[in-house]
Amino acid sequence: MSTVDAGTDDLSDEELLRYSRHILHPDIDFEGQLILKQARVAVVGAGGLGCPAAMYLAASGVGTMIIFDDDVIESSNLQRQIAFTTADIGQSKTETLCRRLEELNPHVSAKPVRKRFEGKEAVLEGIDLVLDCSDNFATRSGVNRFCVDNRVPLVSGAAIRSEGQLCVFDSRAAGSACYHCLYGDMDEATGAANCAESGVLSPLVGVIGALQAVEAVKVLLNQHQQSLGKLLLYDANGALFRMLRFRQDPACTVCAH
Ligand SMILES: [Zn+2]
Repeated sequence: MSTVDAGTDDLSDEELLRYSRHILHPDIDFEGQLILKQARVAVVGAGGLGCPAAMYLAASGVGTMIIFDDDVIESSNLQRQIAFTTADIGQSKTETLCRRLEELNPHVSAKPVRKRFEGKEAVLEGIDLVLDCSDNFATRSGVNRFCVDNRVPLVSGAAIRSEGQLCVFDSRAAGSACYHCLYGDMDEATGAANCAESGVLSPLVGVIGALQAVEAVKVLLNQHQQSLGKLLLYDANGALFRMLRFRQDPACTVCAH
């Protein structure tokens, strides 16, 4: 069996075997797997959400992944940031995660960007999708603005204590809402708590990060239309998922023109 890479417009024998459970899936098949291989996805934040989301996307065969994070791994991260081990303490999160992704799947190229997302980075050229796995509102706002301005779909996840949220935005679709339509000008002072202050249940970030990866694959395969305009809320204590519908805010200062 050949392990030689087949180039970007074909799958090698090794890839056909590796991705066989995708290729057997009628919604993905060979053509879908090739689309995933050719995809270029940015993950903003290599923490509790970014680790599982990026690992599932690497395992799924997303060909190019760009991981933004300016932090180093600390002992208190290991409770939930499952790509990291005790031996990684003190190392760069993005560089460590990228190494793990390429170990997981050598057919994937993972590029570390050791800084906070600004949206001006040259590495974002030709990006197909952004996953927001960050933990602060300033970054979330900047990611949303980049995605609206550049018509790039966005899969946004958040988790705090025992509650998680998931939302898919696609500014390529006419009349589609953005993150700002939903959350407005919230900032750290007006209630956007983060897990460093409030705590978070370890597997909860796995649930939300995995859901982000599910939605990311759907966006890349253009099978995400039913996800738009919905906010999915997961309440771990109540063991329930709820869904809220929302629309574009005609007065939104980011996406309404
Ligand atoms: Zn908006």
